Amino acid sequence: NHAKHDPSRTRFFTTTMVDELHQHEILQLRFSEALANDKLSLAFQPQFCLNTGKLIGAEALCRWHDDILGQVSPATFIPLAEEQGLICSLGEWVLDAACQQLLTWEQQGKPFPGRLCVNVSAQQMDDPRLAEHILRIATRVLPGKLGLELTESGLMRNPEQTVRITRALCEAGFSLAIDDFGTGYSSLTYLKRFAADTLKIDMSFVRDMLKSSHDHAIVSTIIAMAKNLGMQTVAEGVEEAEQAEALRALGCSGVQGFHFGRPVDGVTFAELWL
Ligand code: C2E
Ligand code: MG
Ligand code: MG
Ligand code: MG
Repeated sequence: NHAKHDPSRTRFFTTTMVDELHQHEILQLRFSEALANDKLSLAFQPQFCLNTGKLIGAEALCRWHDDILGQVSPATFIPLAEEQGLICSLGEWVLDAACQQLLTWEQQGKPFPGRLCVNVSAQQMDDPRLAEHILRIATRVLPGKLGLELTESGLMRNPEQTVRITRALCEAGFSLAIDDFGTGYSSLTYLKRFAADTLKIDMSFVRDMLKSSHDHAIVSTIIAMAKNLGMQTVAEGVEEAEQAEALRALGCSGVQGFHFGRPVDGVTFAELWL
């Protein structure tokens, strides 16, 4: 029997595959424990105005350090949370921790001068009551102090629902940014119906904008379009002074990236404006 010896059939029974499955289960278990036991943390990365150089805001980025596995990237644990139906709890944890940090800085006599932005995952956008949940958690801080970053692909999962959610959040005073802009498939019709005030230019375009005239054109077009729609732009992943200069020349409003500051813990971050 030929099929019996077909290597493509036996592949599924190698120890590596079993190990990977096992590994995945371990990750899931340890992540759910970390979330339940408050073992996650937030890192803060600054955003600056390109014209004045002033600190305008920060992005809160979730961090998970596991005693055995070490530092695990959000690129790994966000999908894990989504698979396990834990993304809403994670989102609530992150928003709550961000509000707590704003209050802590305030109580220490150094209120954050900008707006703190929190990421909302694509799957959270499926929740028709997302705006209510966010409003309930964020009652302790002024809505003007908080921003939400929604990915372009997340916004387009259920665009009509997104229109309602973004409008409710905007009316409540939150600012909204469309994250990783340029990598998803948002329709221009919806772009103006979503109540977002900022487009975050995806770092893949910023990275090559000085080498590739194609990427430079994309960045330039996004900035021009945002301006025409009355929106701000924040370029992400700015690693070089030359990129910042090119972005300023194109009229980009804000920047975020390793050139200006890496994500750091809340105590280190507060040194930026003292
Ligand atoms: P994002 O929202 O686009 O966040 C920007 C990512 O780019 C962060 O990675 C940040 O550390 C990284 N970054 C910033 N500046 C530079 C730079 O100059 N060069 C390079 N190469 N990278 C830079 P991080 O923290 O690993 O997060 C990755 C993604 O995971 C985020 O992408 C976001 O989609 C997601 N994520 C992180 N925290 C959360 C969270 O609390 N909730 C949700 N739903 N997603 C999160
Ligand atoms: Mg983001
Ligand atoms: Mg982004
Ligand atoms: Mg990104």
